[in-house]
Amino acid sequence: MAVPKRRTSKARKNKRRTHFKLEVPGMTLCPNCGSLIRSHHVCAECGQYKGQEVIEK
Ligand SMILES: [Zn+2]
Repeated sequence: MAVPKRRTSKARKNKRRTHFKLEVPGMTLCPNCGSLIRSHHVCAECGQYKGQEVIEK
């Protein structure tokens, strides 16, 4: 098995981890109730999608 010859320095490790971050999914406001919802998803508050289309109660 390949083994690293040199220990990874703190600076190199931290530079590699600059890409490790939490990203917020695309959010929009519900046109019906105005709460924050994920775009292209049914609203969790009022159960509507694309205006009148009621999917849940
Ligand atoms: Zn809503």
